[in-house]
Amino acid sequence: MAEEKKKPEIDKEQCTGCGICVDECPNKVLELVNDVATLTKPQSCDGCGKCAEACPNEAIKMK
Ligand code: SF4
Ligand code: SF4
Repeated sequence: MAEEKKKPEIDKEQCTGCGICVDECPNKVLELVNDVATLTKPQSCDGCGKCAEACPNEAIKMK
């Protein structure tokens, strides 16, 4: 029974490109691309939600 992992969904309008989530991600799967946080290695995201917790602008929702 494979459990569906949640992934961060980043709202480009809300993201200020501060980079906090990039630093907080324990698996280093987020990068800033054109000043917007982007999940560049989705296969290595474990769905921990630390990025969403760390974002001061509530730009990340776990879905
Ligand atoms: S959910 Fe966890 S592993 Fe995935 S991008 Fe956010 S902080 Fe990184
Ligand atoms: S913490 Fe939030 S505002 Fe900052 S780069 Fe990440 S998604 Fe964007």
